[in-house]
Amino acid sequence: MVLYQSNDMAKVGCNNCKGCSSCCRGMGQSILLDPYDIYQLQTVTGENFVGLMQDKVDIHVENGIILPALKMQPDTDACGFLSKEDRCSIHTYRPGLCRLFPLGRNYDESGLQYFLLEDACHIKTRTKLKIKKWLDVPALARYEKFLVTWHDLRKQIMNRIADQQSDTYTQMINVKLLELFYQKPYDTGLDFYQQFEERIAAISAVI
Ligand code: SF4
Ligand code: SF4
Repeated sequence: MVLYQSNDMAKVGCNNCKGCSSCCRGMGQSILLDPYDIYQLQTVTGENFVGLMQDKVDIHVENGIILPALKMQPDTDACGFLSKEDRCSIHTYRPGLCRLFPLGRNYDESGLQYFLLEDACHIKTRTKLKIKKWLDVPALARYEKFLVTWHDLRKQIMNRIADQQSDTYTQMINVKLLELFYQKPYDTGLDFYQQFEERIAAISAVI
């Protein structure tokens, strides 16, 4: 598997997905949302987490951890943010996994790298683009640092859940995780990363 850094080029360009919305349909609960996604969704919709949970966001359980994911709509099996014209209605604020596709993330001791999901995108004539341009995330270095911290936290909690084998602990840590990183509204007028670091400090005390 070829691993890329954000400054590398990869075959990701798909002509702005013109005529295709396949990644926004039939995805089940696979488009997981991280805290930065919630901050962005809160910014663009004005809704807090409870509001988003009405019809746009679902709850997914993986390895004992409860995490929010985009909700496919019951009538269309498409994301609730997909417009009638088959375009993303929140494009500038779309979640990280939507930005990433058809790339995946790989985490190891050296940090975060990217890899191409070879047959994931239907467009066969994709062009080479710099990954940082494809992701189009402001302050990418801070975003990548956040992703690594978030990944490490989830891994640490997963390991602790497996070690403890305690329903009480699993419930407690999931409630804290949801409360601190998703339900407690972010101040969208303030820097996300500082708010995230404060919440990391708070959960570290109870892991
Ligand atoms: S948020 Fe936008 S890009 Fe992501 S699945 Fe929904 S419509 Fe598609
Ligand atoms: S399959 Fe490719 S072209 Fe279609 S929506 Fe996904 S990324 Fe865009």
